[in-house]
Amino acid sequence: MHIESATSSQLVEWEKELSVHYERICQHELSLDITRGKPSAEQLHLSDKLDGILATDYRAADGTDTRNYGGMTGLSCARALGADLLQVPTEEVMAGGNSSLTLMYHAVLTGYLFGFAGNVPWRALESPKFLCPVPGYDRHFTICEQLGIGMLAIPLGKGGPDMECVEKHVREDGDIIGIWCVPKYANPTGITYNRETVERLAQLGQIANPGFRIFWDNAYAVHDLGPSINLASIRAATLENDTVDSVLQFASTSKVTHAGSGIAFVSASSANLDSLKLQMQAMTIGPDKVNQLRHSRFFTECTTLEEHMHKHASILKPKFECVLEHLQNALGDSGMGQWEKPRGGYFVSFNTRPGCAKAVVGLAADAGVKLTPAGATFPYGNDPEDSNIRIAPSFPPLEELDTAMSVFVLCVQLASVRQRLA
Ligand code: PLP
Repeated sequence: MHIESATSSQLVEWEKELSVHYERICQHELSLDITRGKPSAEQLHLSDKLDGILATDYRAADGTDTRNYGGMTGLSCARALGADLLQVPTEEVMAGGNSSLTLMYHAVLTGYLFGFAGNVPWRALESPKFLCPVPGYDRHFTICEQLGIGMLAIPLGKGGPDMECVEKHVREDGDIIGIWCVPKYANPTGITYNRETVERLAQLGQIANPGFRIFWDNAYAVHDLGPSINLASIRAATLENDTVDSVLQFASTSKVTHAGSGIAFVSASSANLDSLKLQMQAMTIGPDKVNQLRHSRFFTECTTLEEHMHKHASILKPKFECVLEHLQNALGDSGMGQWEKPRGGYFVSFNTRPGCAKAVVGLAADAGVKLTPAGATFPYGNDPEDSNIRIAPSFPPLEELDTAMSVFVLCVQLASVRQRLA
């Protein structure tokens, strides 16, 4: 039944039935977690041959002894892997440590403290701000919040951020110094930016503060669940618009090999990379090249990137199907929520009726199912509609996910019916 067409007495009956069901589930004392987008143990096993692959042969093809200090930009074979992920020339890639988030943090710090490519440091501005397409990745927002950089929420549609809104802010406010973008299989909505959006973003460098930078976090560049969606090249678009300095691209192997011990990449113009290196050189003598070599050997001796990602997809696909089936079966045509069917990435984004997300997360927690806190996908944790919930299906085994989702949809039903009764 559609919730809007239920009469008061039907709602009362419905609430009673759902409450009985809910109380019964609470007695099971479940302890399930669909919060963070972590790869499952089965996915991690796919890369276990990394261990021992060097067999004491630590020399890279270019003769570098990877055990020693040095090489701020990373091994050339590792940079080539980053170039393959980001579809850019190897010379424009720096291969770092295990986390692209760390590189993003350093890039923001570089812009804030020193400025990129000779531009005024952001801290010299009156109120430096990032544009934040929402819902988005909570950890991007945490970086800004920690450094005291303001954030403006921008609606994210099916083809990317609302570009009218982005352009208006950039044109009217010289203190806009960046935008967070997850252009492919976005966290959490799973959408991929369309060509027009990519082109309009690439043109921002013509109207923005010269220190403005697009943080192009392509974390899910190769994480397809089926046929890949083609993301237009932001690099090519900036070359056409003479705005190459306006973009920094990021990726990592965190959800390709071992999440905690992969390689992170940043790709940018030489002026931007020089600024970043200057900041990072004070902090490190170089990245873990032994791990970089292990990855390079893994993708030449054991598998190809494409073959490897297919194996991930075959593990992840049934989990996404499980989530979508639960949503469709319990909530389809109910008016209790909306969701997208992602074609890649790590998340399913669910929107409750306005004002219900916190209640759903609370009910689920009391029933033993941990969800990402409501609001986490918005700057300052503030979802003005109290509606968005991020579901992360990758980590739990399928059976646990199935149970967690049956609890989730029940909580959505209960919170929605109770809201209508209130
Ligand atoms: N960027 C996005 C959009 C993510 O979803 C994640 C992890 O969930 C990361 C970055 C973290 O990447 P890394 O492990 O390379 O720091």
